[in-house]
Amino acid sequence: MQKLVDGLHKFQTEVCRSHQDLFRNLAKGQRPEALFITCSDSRINPNLITQTQPGDIFIVRNVGNIVPPYGASNGSESAAIEFAVAHLNVKNIIVCGHTLCGAMRGLLDPAGLDALPSVKSWLQHAELTRRLVEENYPHIEGVDRLTITVEENVLAQIENLRTHPTVRARLARGELSLYAWVFKIETGQVFQFEHTNGQFAPIDETAPPSALPETTVFRRAI
Ligand SMILES: [Zn+2]
Repeated sequence: MQKLVDGLHKFQTEVCRSHQDLFRNLAKGQRPEALFITCSDSRINPNLITQTQPGDIFIVRNVGNIVPPYGASNGSESAAIEFAVAHLNVKNIIVCGHTLCGAMRGLLDPAGLDALPSVKSWLQHAELTRRLVEENYPHIEGVDRLTITVEENVLAQIENLRTHPTVRARLARGELSLYAWVFKIETGQVFQFEHTNGQFAPIDETAPPSALPETTVFRRAI
């Protein structure tokens, strides 16, 4: 804990002082430009990888960056989505998975989750992912199978996101854009799903963020 306490002290004495205007403005309210849904995994930091400041992105984190379909759970995810879209009027929603995800590893091996009943139950919201991988990628094994699962899960959760009325309504009006991203822990790269070719590709200066179409998209099985 000392590391955290030292960090608090450094934040208050150094960062707060040098960012006084920022925090003064944030006290008046928030206008984030995106809702960022990602995994609880300690190795992914949304503000760090997007180089954003407090107030820039509204973040939802949970095990496996899962979005339960509307009505399937009265959890905080639905409330956060509704609040971000209908109240804060975010214009973009990003679902960002990550490589080497323990939740997705568990999804591929449910028997290994017998000692974690809550995790096992939570991952039922990713059943679409599990089935997609099982039926479409029987020939892919090991870490490649895990990466495919991470990618398919991001797209499956985008589909779940579309079941939320607030999301659906804004999409229909063209006021909301959805993005499917995967953060590669090993290199720090972020990959985005490009619906034009059905594949994930790195986001860089030459490849600006690619919003998904309003309708369902599927990954091109490899
Ligand atoms: Zn994870």
